[in-house]
Amino acid sequence: MAPTVPLTVLDLREQRYSCHGCGDCCRDFSVQLRDEDLDRLRSQRWEERLGEKVTVEFRGRRYLRQRPDGACVFLQPGGLCRIHAEFGFDEKPVACRLFPFNLAPDARGVRAGLNFACSSVRANRGAALGGHRGDLERALREVPEAVAVAPPRLQRELRAEATEVEAVVEGIDSWLRRPSVALATRLDGFAWLAQSLGAASLSKVRGGRLRELVDLLSSALPGELDHHPVAPPSRGQVRLMRQAAFARIEDPRLVGDEDRPSLWARLDQWRRSRRFARGRGAVPPLARGWSVPGSFEAIEATAKAPPDEAIDDLVRRWLRATLRGGRAWGSGYYGWSIADGVQALALDAACLGWLARAHAAGAGTTVVNLASVAEAVGRIDRARGRAAWLGGAAERLRLRYFAVDDGLRRLVRSQW
Ligand code: SF4
Repeated sequence: MAPTVPLTVLDLREQRYSCHGCGDCCRDFSVQLRDEDLDRLRSQRWEERLGEKVTVEFRGRRYLRQRPDGACVFLQPGGLCRIHAEFGFDEKPVACRLFPFNLAPDARGVRAGLNFACSSVRANRGAALGGHRGDLERALREVPEAVAVAPPRLQRELRAEATEVEAVVEGIDSWLRRPSVALATRLDGFAWLAQSLGAASLSKVRGGRLRELVDLLSSALPGELDHHPVAPPSRGQVRLMRQAAFARIEDPRLVGDEDRPSLWARLDQWRRSRRFARGRGAVPPLARGWSVPGSFEAIEATAKAPPDEAIDDLVRRWLRATLRGGRAWGSGYYGWSIADGVQALALDAACLGWLARAHAAGAGTTVVNLASVAEAVGRIDRARGRAAWLGGAAERLRLRYFAVDDGLRRLVRSQW
């Protein structure tokens, strides 16, 4: 079936990508399967041939099974995919063929965004993104639900027009790429924009008036930040931000049917979340492959990222790609409205600063560097739109809490 709506490949000229065969995505990514993927796997007769299950059920969805170290069951020594080796690229699950792109339908058609969990994307290595159009269009033909255009909501139940989506994207994007403004200030301004959009009554500013509002807000920056400096975050805000950071690095292994996680697993998760909230003493294990810092105090003692062109470039590309690639709201982000999705992305930016400090502390450095920021971007983007709990009630409650008293701005400022 040919695509019935236009496919827009992420229009970010400064971003490049080609696969460099590192195999990291096969070692560290849960691959959700579609019915067509399951049919294909059955016809390839893996379970009979391997004598083991190759898929698992998790929270009502079917995934490729992982080995205890997180690697896909089909990953072979040397980093090759066994399905690819025996049956060819087109016989792999659609998600494997798409990665690191993802397809998000919205009022403007289908957007192909990019996931920064991929190290080549983070390092900005490879071909111009338009060169992937052919592969993406082939994959799109296999994702029939991606061609059913579903406009995102602007706020609450209010559906956005395509021009309104564009107005929000362009307004925020123009601020994020504003030259000669320091990254910390741009992130603060982004949090301010997110808070302002969340607080505005958008039903009263539709169409061209929304564009005027977003333009007005972004043109008020950075002066508005100087006129309204924020205090350091409260203990309650920091506590909730650490829990938000924990939620972004939670990493269930899909080694068996886990539709009903054991009581022990739930208790363990609750305990770790509580320890992040408390923020004192020993740190529970962080993301896979990260050294655990000696204590939460060691994380707090680690200096924030200094001004650095490479860090600025990475964080700017990540935020811009998320907004422009349809991964900040709607079908690309748990069906959330634009107003809520932008606030969640601002919280991501605060968590990014904290997680980069946690990574740096574990690596034994006293100041955040590019490597730590890149690791933290990768972990956060790995979960974006894929970790069901980030689209749930706890995350919404956190954002409601941060929506008062300049919570997002205070947290972003404290981490950058
Ligand atoms: S099926 Fe192949 S490409 Fe997909 S995750 Fe497994 S090893 Fe990687």
